[in-house]
Amino acid sequence: MRDKVDLGPSQAVSNYDVIIAGGGMAGLITAASIGFSTKGNARVLIIDRNKEDEPGKKTNNGWTCGDATSKRSLDYLSEHIGVRYGSPELEHPVSGVYVYSPDRQTKVLFEGEGYLFNRKLAPRRQVNDAKKFGTEFMYGATAERLLSEDGRVTGVSGRKSDGTTFSLTAKVVIDATGSSSVLRRFIPISSMIEKEIDMDDVVGTGRYILDFEPAVDAPEFFSPDYCIIHLDQFIAPAGYAWVFPKGKKKVNIGLGVSHSGLARRNRRFKLNDNLQSLIDKYLTDNPVIKKYAQPSDDADSGNTKGNWQVPVRRHNDCMVANGFAVVGDSAWMPRPIDAGGISPSIYGGTILGKVVAEALEAGDTSEAGLWKYNVEYMNTHGYPMASFEVLRRYLQSVTNEQINYGMKYFLSEEDVTAITERKHPEFNQARFMNPAMWFRVLGQLSLARGLRYTVKKSAALVEINLSYPESPKGFEDWQKRLGRELTETVEKFKPLDVAN
Ligand SMILES: Cc1cc2nc3c(=O)[nH]c(=O)nc-3n(C[C@H](O)[C@H](O)[C@H](O)COP(=O)(O)OP(=O)(O)OC[C@H]3O[C@@H](n4cnc5c(N)ncnc54)[C@H](O)[C@@H]3O)c2cc1C
Repeated sequence: MRDKVDLGPSQAVSNYDVIIAGGGMAGLITAASIGFSTKGNARVLIIDRNKEDEPGKKTNNGWTCGDATSKRSLDYLSEHIGVRYGSPELEHPVSGVYVYSPDRQTKVLFEGEGYLFNRKLAPRRQVNDAKKFGTEFMYGATAERLLSEDGRVTGVSGRKSDGTTFSLTAKVVIDATGSSSVLRRFIPISSMIEKEIDMDDVVGTGRYILDFEPAVDAPEFFSPDYCIIHLDQFIAPAGYAWVFPKGKKKVNIGLGVSHSGLARRNRRFKLNDNLQSLIDKYLTDNPVIKKYAQPSDDADSGNTKGNWQVPVRRHNDCMVANGFAVVGDSAWMPRPIDAGGISPSIYGGTILGKVVAEALEAGDTSEAGLWKYNVEYMNTHGYPMASFEVLRRYLQSVTNEQINYGMKYFLSEEDVTAITERKHPEFNQARFMNPAMWFRVLGQLSLARGLRYTVKKSAALVEINLSYPESPKGFEDWQKRLGRELTETVEKFKPLDVAN
């Protein structure tokens, strides 16, 4: 293993192959993947603003996350780069997710094994995985700007916690700094990477991690074996609330809301709630979790209460530029309907690492040399994301009453299976052509029409995404096609003024 980097003020080093800004979920997996694919022969540096003993920490409030991810993505990781997580980074297994309608009359089970991560402990393991391949680390260092020359990104500059500055160069710089990225926003070269996200495509989320003594047995409020999601436009406007088990008597409980959805709800009901007050009310209303405490042991201390933001649009249409790539939340990868960003970081980081290794080997780290990352991510994990963005917009536009009705009458087993398999549901029960359903469809005609519209759009969007251009050449035309399909839906699904 190489020595730890110790750089003096403004010292420029120019022999890195790759610099990864941000050593969180996406950055650490990317580093391991580069190491695996190059057999440790690339010189990789991770820069992170955290202290060395707090890797992967997102904000001062900790490693804020719902912590849930699918076994499927973990299997992908072990199959592709030989990394298999276990205890203590995987804290608790689950068998699936129950989604409850606002009136709690309908519950839908999305089967599929998954795990609750310990996000504080996981990065320690991931740092060791990356170090095995010789990855170097520079902690207490905030990346502030990308360096560029002749139309390509050549490095990154920033400031260390002792106030000194640094300026480092590399063949490829990867932005894995999460949802607040400034590197992507101020990319200094001409590129096809979108810089800004619409604030309506960001949700405010927050949660507690708590040890508790169950007060009653009420499986719709806590189950040690299943993640629970509560849909309710009043409790979590244009978002959802969750109760995820981290043990038989330990829970991750929280919710996510769209900022504008919350503002509209507050106006309508003359309320003054904010994200934290909504989370606190949701916790207070849970009849199972009454006697609780925030755990104070090393595994959880400093990580029991926190809020942070998650992008919920499709991933950036282009994720590479000359000498540069984005991954994870910085690339807006979380799934639009549930804000799950761990799986996308696993897929994205694994694919990016492999493509960077190939580009280094070929001596071409230009936009064209890195393009395969766009294509492979889209074909593997990204292709349904635009359709989920449309479904998310639609779900944000319906009332609690419509969600109750839709979940009860229009959601079939096939739809549930489709969503579990990361496909857009067909909503065949909402077809007017289905005589058995006429009565139901007539009962909620606009809901049925809306659902069917998302199906039609989904097919078109998936088809467009699966014909993502093989090289930068076709990108402009492809993006115009995608844009035309999406613009129509933005206009069609006006945000719900508020739920009843
Ligand atoms: C409340 C909440 C609940 C969630 N629940 C789930 C869930 O249940 N399942 C799921 O799959 N996803 C969930 N997510 C999303 C998931 O947590 C993220 O998608 C995931 O952490 C993204 O990883 P990342 O590496 O891209 O970014 P991050 O995890 O944010 O890591 C970014 C890293 O970059 C560092 N950094 C940032 N800026 C700089 C800088 N300028 N210079 C140097 N270093 C920098 C940070 O210190 C950090 O180490 C949730 C998110 C939130 C907020």
